[in-house]
Amino acid sequence: MPELETRLLIGGEQVRGDGDSLEIENPYTEGAVATVGAASPEQVDAAVAMARAASGEWARTPAVERGEMLHEVAARIRARTDELAEVMTLEGGKPRIENADEVGWTVAALDYYAEIGRDSAGRVIPSIEASQLALVLKEPLGVVGCIVPWNYPLLLLGWKLAPALAAGNTLVCKPSELTPLSTLMLGELFDHLPAGAVNIVAGAGTVGAAISEHEDVDCVAFTGSVETGKKVARACIERVARINLEMGGKDPFIVCSDVASGIETAAKGGAWAAFLNAGQVCTSAERFYVMSDVYDDYLNAFVDYTSSLVIGDPLEAGTDVGPMVSGGQRQKVADQVEAAVASGAEVVVGGGDGGQSHGHFFAPAVVTGASAETSLLSEETFGPVAPLVPVKDLDEAIELANSTRFGLGANVYTQDFRTILRCMREIKAGTIWFNDPLTDNDAGPFGGFKQSGLGRELGREGLEAFQETKHAHIESELAPKEWWYPYR
Ligand code: NAD
Repeated sequence: MPELETRLLIGGEQVRGDGDSLEIENPYTEGAVATVGAASPEQVDAAVAMARAASGEWARTPAVERGEMLHEVAARIRARTDELAEVMTLEGGKPRIENADEVGWTVAALDYYAEIGRDSAGRVIPSIEASQLALVLKEPLGVVGCIVPWNYPLLLLGWKLAPALAAGNTLVCKPSELTPLSTLMLGELFDHLPAGAVNIVAGAGTVGAAISEHEDVDCVAFTGSVETGKKVARACIERVARINLEMGGKDPFIVCSDVASGIETAAKGGAWAAFLNAGQVCTSAERFYVMSDVYDDYLNAFVDYTSSLVIGDPLEAGTDVGPMVSGGQRQKVADQVEAAVASGAEVVVGGGDGGQSHGHFFAPAVVTGASAETSLLSEETFGPVAPLVPVKDLDEAIELANSTRFGLGANVYTQDFRTILRCMREIKAGTIWFNDPLTDNDAGPFGGFKQSGLGRELGREGLEAFQETKHAHIESELAPKEWWYPYR
């Protein structure tokens, strides 16, 4: 096992947290992995002050040099892929292969923004007179607080850290209280940046709230639940600080009649979209709307494939689905399924502990007969549950897809171009995937419609989220204008 890092990073120094103790649990063994001292209120203040002190130097560093330093961070993280993946598996329970992928995606985001950041400082716009030059300047916001959840600790931090640094901001980062260890391991990888450019403070909601409410934090980039996101938004709006919110989802997955010949592929894609990371993905497929004429075949293929998945030790090669992150998360999922069953739904496969003697396992479940009013079909589940619902046509599928307060992602399986166009235009979601669920693209903006979020990560939009806009109006002649006084 790699040596575990439990120190915070404040002003370039790795220091013990003086606040409450966080006991980090291994979701597979249910044993303790480590104890981390959270940041005390004074340490949060110090981290913000250090970020502020570093912000001038970092903002003045030429973008090309910032880009080189970000590439160096990427290289250092890449070199530690195995150790990071192991620690992420110990603290989060996601299969090691998925954690190694996550490290790779995090590195890719850093490399992407290292380049995008040196390719954009604004634009020249037509001036209103020939003697003038007019510019739109993109400037850093200042100090950015990055608050992230436990399901993809490094990736979701990377989607904030990379563009925010590339744009010239300095950071105070807070990992989830359930999974701080992999993030704290990054603490020694920023020593080629100005001290204080990146600060990492561990802690629970109180530390997150202290960052969101801090008078000297100019922007908070948050990923997490809708309920917490609303609290962050309220804290920030009080002082008109910028916010970027990535929140929950209830993604629909539509299967159309025309994929009859590829029904097994659509079932495998659906199962992967529902059960990846034990369903703990913000864009997990959580509601399947399947056209009636292919419903039985789809259900059978889905159940067969689900039954073949290997549940077990996330450190073992060959494990498809590991435990959920915590007993509390597992219980929420079990309660939601139980409520659906109480109102007439049936669990066709899965749903128990998958035969495991320990660990927060919820065996990937396929549910039929749930009514639209159940929370299983209207509120986020965040667990490995696939409720299948037959629909008569595309109109009904699109109407149901748009029927929740969420709008993060959506999936459609079809080969019909007219169906693709209709779904693309009519489904209210920040990302819509056709025949290839959940694939991210650093160049493609990611975020939510409706209560799923505010703003976008990734792509050029993901950089602009961390930039302030200034209009510079330059007159080269020292001459009075005819529209000045006097008017007579
Ligand atoms: P959460 O909202 O409980 O916590 C998220 C983060 O906010 C944690 O670091 C937590 O400590 C912190 N926090 C808690 N209270 C706070 C407060 N009052 N002020 C500031 N920060 C506070 O979410 P979670 O359980 O860690 O993660 C699961 C949620 O994240 C799900 O709803 C999921 O959909 C969402 N998520 C969204 C995306 C996306 O990109 N849209 C990606 C992954 C996860």
